[in-house]
Amino acid sequence: MSNCLFCKIVSGEIPSDKVFEDEWIYVFKDIAPKADVHLLIIPKQHIARLDQTTEADAALLSHMLLALPALAKQQGLETGFRTIINTGPGGGQEVDHLHIHLLGGKKLPGFN
Ligand code: 5GP
Ligand code: ZN
Repeated sequence: MSNCLFCKIVSGEIPSDKVFEDEWIYVFKDIAPKADVHLLIIPKQHIARLDQTTEADAALLSHMLLALPALAKQQGLETGFRTIINTGPGGGQEVDHLHIHLLGGKKLPGFN
């Protein structure tokens, strides 16, 4: 999608602090981290929201989830981590390109 911020990050048109990429996913640091570690895991292909995925995306979604433990370990999150997927305006999603937040570290806030 030509007008999508995260598609522009995948293509390199907008710079990012990349920590990992493979054939399917691109992983980079959130520009406004909410914790010591705050990564965004996104598909390279444009998918706007989790509620727009189908069975056809099952392998990709599985791949995204399965990447998380290794990314957390690489970031030094030995005691665990949090994952968040905001979906749509009601879920607080601000960028309409599917992304998983991976958060961790000593400053990780609780849900209150
Ligand atoms: P959402 O609220 O859509 O779930 O999360 C979007 C996230 O993208 C936010 O945590 C925000 O800080 C991050 N973000 C927005 N614009 C940029 C950007 O240009 N670069 C990076 N690295 N992160 C961004
Ligand atoms: Zn996109």
